[in-house]
Amino acid sequence: MMRNLMGAIVLASGVIASATGAVAADKIPVVATFSILGDFVTKVGGDRIALRTIVGPEGDAHVYQPTPKDAADIAKARIVFANGLGFEGWMERLVAASGYKGPIVVATAGVKALKAEAEEHEHGKTEQKDAKEGHDAHGGDDPHAWQSVANAKLYVANVKTGLCQADIAGCPDYTKNAAAYTAELNALETEIKTRIAQVPETGRKVITSHDAFGYFADAYGVTFLAPTGVSTESEASAKDVAKLIDQIRAEKVKAVFVENVTDTRLVEQIARETGAKIGGTLYSDALSKTDGPAASYAAMMRHNLTLLSAAMLGS
Ligand code: ZN
Repeated sequence: MMRNLMGAIVLASGVIASATGAVAADKIPVVATFSILGDFVTKVGGDRIALRTIVGPEGDAHVYQPTPKDAADIAKARIVFANGLGFEGWMERLVAASGYKGPIVVATAGVKALKAEAEEHEHGKTEQKDAKEGHDAHGGDDPHAWQSVANAKLYVANVKTGLCQADIAGCPDYTKNAAAYTAELNALETEIKTRIAQVPETGRKVITSHDAFGYFADAYGVTFLAPTGVSTESEASAKDVAKLIDQIRAEKVKAVFVENVTDTRLVEQIARETGAKIGGTLYSDALSKTDGPAASYAAMMRHNLTLLSAAMLGS
């Protein structure tokens, strides 16, 4: 998961020396690809790092178009964190364009990847997902690993290892921060399991717009049905939507959800046609702005949990 570490540190020192002052000299310049990962990096890095997040709050990393500023920020970074599993299809070209030769930490290293083919394929669907760039190249892995708190702890461990290698002097701080945050994640994990256990098993079924909750489903025993695949790039076919509507009626699914990174119209149409209630907005791939309900990873998971359990309990 680390690349050219020693070379990177030498290169990065040179870059910092000639930097224009955008990054305070005493902070480690760090880049994370998207807001959720940025939160993990902030929690571990604390005030030793200056973090730039490429795809910010409410942004859709699946379809992001990098800017020259992104390349410039990567060029200045001492370490870069990415999700991997095909999430950031634009990353390779961006790194090449930036000339950055430093370490790129794949934060999902060690995660047991789920395949993109989720529940819907068990119901007789055989159509292949569009061979869009990024996803097929990675064997159709589902990139949304952060939706399981057990995986979030692996992200945190990988972030800690990366920061310790890039900034050895800071390692005691990073280790302490990671341990404190992991304890918070343990509490969050227990809370999710407890709340989901209060929902009768037959009622643990909801609709979301894109297939972003496979890891949550796998970890906590909730079934998510979605008209589109694991990337927001793909579009649901009329046939897929019709099948999903039949399934919602047959299985009496009570709630459908919109997501902060997807077009809401399709889910609204499904709600109208089935009479299912719209349960609110789930935060799947990005945090909210700081004044929103999901400004951190833990807040995001609690917000989603509250909406999901209320909808599944039919309240
Ligand atoms: Zn997604």
